[in-house]
Amino acid sequence: MENRENRAELLSLDYDGLVSLLLSIGEPKYRADQIFPQLHRGLSPSEMTNVGKRVGAAIDKVAYYDLPSVRRKLISGIDGTVKYLFELGDGNCVESVVMEYHHGLTICISSQVGCRMGCAFCASTIGGKVRDLTPGELLGQVIAASKDLGKRISNIVMMGIGEPLDNYENVLKFLRLVNDPRGICIGYRHISLSTCGLADRIDDLAREDLPITLSISLHAADNETRSSIMPVNRKYSIERLLDSCRRYYDTTGRRISFEYTLIEGKNTSEASAEKLAELLNSSLRPGHGTLPIHVNLIPVNDVAERGFTHPGTGEIKRFAAILEKRGIRATVRRKLGPDINASCGQLRRAVTENEEKTEN
Ligand code: SAH
Repeated sequence: MENRENRAELLSLDYDGLVSLLLSIGEPKYRADQIFPQLHRGLSPSEMTNVGKRVGAAIDKVAYYDLPSVRRKLISGIDGTVKYLFELGDGNCVESVVMEYHHGLTICISSQVGCRMGCAFCASTIGGKVRDLTPGELLGQVIAASKDLGKRISNIVMMGIGEPLDNYENVLKFLRLVNDPRGICIGYRHISLSTCGLADRIDDLAREDLPITLSISLHAADNETRSSIMPVNRKYSIERLLDSCRRYYDTTGRRISFEYTLIEGKNTSEASAEKLAELLNSSLRPGHGTLPIHVNLIPVNDVAERGFTHPGTGEIKRFAAILEKRGIRATVRRKLGPDINASCGQLRRAVTENEEKTEN
């Protein structure tokens, strides 16, 4: 690996940061207008035809350009969903998934290498957290996938490996970078961020006033059940979390959606559905009679190591019907790329494990 010490990561710099870097090597400010958009299209300075060799070499001395490289690529034969295993500059791997919806391509990106949140059903957390991704590595996933596919990506969901609010500063820088009109320019309304519920950070995010969509991984309607599958609930109880959600809505006016993973024998009974409806209505709607509430039901992807299985279709429909009856919009997540195991966390794990076995 080439030496990156003391050099800036070009993709983590915002426009002003790039201007400062160029000024520091005696280049004029206008060069940033040439370079910034091309960096975000996937070109390194030495590949830019309007940037001379001398300038390219001068930039190389103080900065480096790293796009995640495609280590594996799986394409679903059923719906065309593409799953990437990307290798980062230091050899660590993360996953990104590109899905096609009627409104264009959506990429699901990872926010950390591994995760330290410890949710019992989630493959991403099994080996713990290795490190946070930099703003440039977050952005790099979007650029590298778009470059590989030769297509514009118009929507982003932060639902891959890692907990985005546990990498708050870098994620915020990334959101501003990807929204920059001089670069990829994806509107905040086309970006969703999913969190396991770091309530303090949700409060911080509300103050940033970025109109992104927030998704909360709720997965249970009472503290005992939630704590048994999501350790984060011992720090931020359901009540504390929903308080933050209410404040987020009050400040930003953005609808919040909830993810609810259905795990057989754990949270799928009629009583659980009633409890969930009661909880959301009583904590979010007082004084906000018409506040739209949306629950996304996700049949759990069976994680062999953990012994979790998903309920049958009948049970899922019954659960959704109970929520709808209580005025809560419920959708069942369409499973994209079922033949390539498109849910995040599982490919990185399979590859890492295989390599560990091969190495031993
Ligand atoms: N850390 C963030 C985002 C990553 S996970 C969060 O917790 O929201 C994205 C979604 O997939 C979360 O709702 C997560 O709980 C869910 N998930 C993780 N493992 C799953 C599994 N085995 N089956 C179904 N959903 C799962």
